Amino acid sequence: MERTLSIIKPDATKRNITGKINKIIEDNNLNIIAQKRIQLKEDTAEKFYSVHKNQSFFQDLIDFMISAPVVVQVLESENAVSKYRDIMGSTNPTEAEEGTIRNEVALSIQENSVHGSDSLENAKIEIDFFFTKDEIVG
Ligand code: ADP
Ligand code: MG
Repeated sequence: MERTLSIIKPDATKRNITGKINKIIEDNNLNIIAQKRIQLKEDTAEKFYSVHKNQSFFQDLIDFMISAPVVVQVLESENAVSKYRDIMGSTNPTEAEEGTIRNEVALSIQENSVHGSDSLENAKIEIDFFFTKDEIVG
């Protein structure tokens, strides 16, 4: 079994579609074993996305991520990391396959509704970034 970090982003919390996204997650047999709604602060968002700090879109991304609450989640299944990346679809929703979350609900390459860890190593780091051990009930 693997665990991955998911974030339901502000464009989705603002549109009241967190349940719709959770249904896609659960219909694909990923188990939501931790979940909380939080308001990111600028410094937290900058730290989380620090790998992108030299990208032209960095400040816009931070402003977007703090523009409304997010829902952070730990998902568990076999191959959870790559499985969730598949279910999310491409970063740019115009390139996301039918049936993926980003194809179904994302608005743009920035407002693309969900984050998912891109490797098992990063999944562990990102889960520890948001959750204590006792908040995760597998
Ligand atoms: P992913 O979320 O698919 O792993 P990246 O890690 O490359 O994508 O980028 C992180 C986030 O930054 C994206 O999900 C998106 O919200 C935003 N982003 C990425 N590329 C762009 C871009 N070219 N323009 C605006 N925002 C972007
Ligand atoms: Mg990424």
